[in-house]
Amino acid sequence: MQQTVNPVPPINGAQQEHFDVLIVGAGLSGIGAGFHLQSRLPGKTHAIFEAREDLGGTWDLFRYPGVRSDSDMFTLGFSFRPWTQAKAIADGPAILAYLHETAADHGIDRHIRYRRRVTRAAWDSSRSVWTVDYEDGADRRSRSVTCGFLYMCAGYYNYAQGYRPDFPGEERFGGLIVHPQHWPADLDYQGKRVVVIGSGATAVTLVPAMAATAAQVTMLQRSPTYIVSRPAEDGFANRLRRLLPAKLAYAIVRWRNVLGQMVFFNMARKNPEKVKAGIIDLVRQELGPDFDVATHFTPRYNPWDQRLCLVPDADLFAAIRAGAASVVTDQVESFTETGVALKSGGHLAADIIVTATGLDMQLMSGLEVTVDGQAVDLARTFSYKGMMYSGVPNLASSFGYTNASWTLKADLTAEYVCRLINAMDRGGYTECRPVSDDPALEPAPMLDFSSGYVKRGLVHFPKQGVRAPWRIHQNYALDLLAFRYGRLNDGVMRFSRARLGAAAPSGFEHGLAKVAATVDA
Ligand SMILES: Cc1cc2nc3c(=O)[nH]c(=O)nc-3n(C[C@H](O)[C@H](O)[C@H](O)COP(=O)(O)OP(=O)(O)OC[C@H]3O[C@@H](n4cnc5c(N)ncnc54)[C@H](O)[C@@H]3O)c2cc1C
Repeated sequence: MQQTVNPVPPINGAQQEHFDVLIVGAGLSGIGAGFHLQSRLPGKTHAIFEAREDLGGTWDLFRYPGVRSDSDMFTLGFSFRPWTQAKAIADGPAILAYLHETAADHGIDRHIRYRRRVTRAAWDSSRSVWTVDYEDGADRRSRSVTCGFLYMCAGYYNYAQGYRPDFPGEERFGGLIVHPQHWPADLDYQGKRVVVIGSGATAVTLVPAMAATAAQVTMLQRSPTYIVSRPAEDGFANRLRRLLPAKLAYAIVRWRNVLGQMVFFNMARKNPEKVKAGIIDLVRQELGPDFDVATHFTPRYNPWDQRLCLVPDADLFAAIRAGAASVVTDQVESFTETGVALKSGGHLAADIIVTATGLDMQLMSGLEVTVDGQAVDLARTFSYKGMMYSGVPNLASSFGYTNASWTLKADLTAEYVCRLINAMDRGGYTECRPVSDDPALEPAPMLDFSSGYVKRGLVHFPKQGVRAPWRIHQNYALDLLAFRYGRLNDGVMRFSRARLGAAAPSGFEHGLAKVAATVDA
């Protein structure tokens, strides 16, 4: 059995619930983190605090028609749990079932405490401990626990509210306005005229799904997005699974997909014009020579300046070809009593308007963080390896890739956190704090993406630097080497011991460490 990171002395003799590691969020990241923690650090106590009543995060929250992954499940699935279903681009309910089964089969669910919404975390250097405040239960009673390491798996957007601009004249509209994040379970759209505002992953999913029974679905976009079609089922993967043990087949397909995505991404970065022409040509083949691909499917930016949208089995194009769906590239002038007036002067009649206008990006669900009594503005920190924050000890957060499946990075982050905690135990340390004391370190936005919702959100996110470990590589192979095998003691991560009874160190200033120490790792 390993020692606990930090046996916490009671404050004023009062016992407080304490965990070596507290995971916040029981979505894909939190469930993965739970698995890694219990298998790599079996002697540690941990709990997973989840604000909602059930696990699954994104895959439980989003219930709009057709909700599905837009990456393949061989990379969106966990490294430790093969995806064995026929569909590689999976429906939301199938992903949710996979998460439930994973949590139950590995006993991860036993650690989840539901209806606990974490709101604040206060680090005390003298004791090397986080005091974490949360709202408990339906009546949101304020409570707190302590932990030695805080592992935020709270996703990247505001659960309470999606992003939705105010459209002029909304109050006049006589039909229904719906945001995909709050889809009414009983919404009947059969035979109705629907306008979907947006052109991102949600819009391109909703349009063909609703077009199956609606009278007409129109995707109203301000500007086009790159759309790539892939078969929903991966024939090679399904054949391989019949020949090989599930785990081996999964590992092979996972690596094939990881490498394929990396090659495609690098091609897009090196030769954007060629990749752009290739994508648009495929759309033209789908929609025929008479369709105005230049207006509706030719973005003004380069591939991967924003996330590419994937459609399974060309379902969006099939719905357009069949006349059940259409695309209008224009702007909303205002909502009217009967639909949407366009800037160009046109009008789209609608019974239902779906505002697929995106997410409200939010860092660590808006957690308030203090270090030794001082509030930390996380936007003024540097992101360490895309998972920790300069100057903030014993806290990691899970944030996936923008150009590949989220889980690839979430898995690596969990492995790294376990390595870090193990190394602290071996060295007898209780604190690890990434410190950015290089005055030449220039802050750059954390993500190199031009999408509106990303740009809006990024002002509240930490910054990245130009060099490792402050640079965020959107590259699984590089991260795998760095996270799994790289030195923990990289000159930036400072390790120290709690000095119980000593005055707390003064000042949080981009992570000036109280005690610099080395770890043998
Ligand atoms: C519609 C949609 C489709 C997507 N498709 C893909 C895809 O195909 N591929 C891909 O890579 N990514 C996709 N993403 C991104 C997706 O969110 C991630 O893949 C992944 O689900 C994120 O998992 P997570 O556990 O990190 O966060 P989430 O799924 O957001 O889960 C976070 C959990 O933390 C809980 N939580 C939040 N704040 C608190 C708090 N303060 N206290 C306690 N609990 C809290 C939430 O209730 C939730 O259960 C998609 C996103 C959306 C919205």
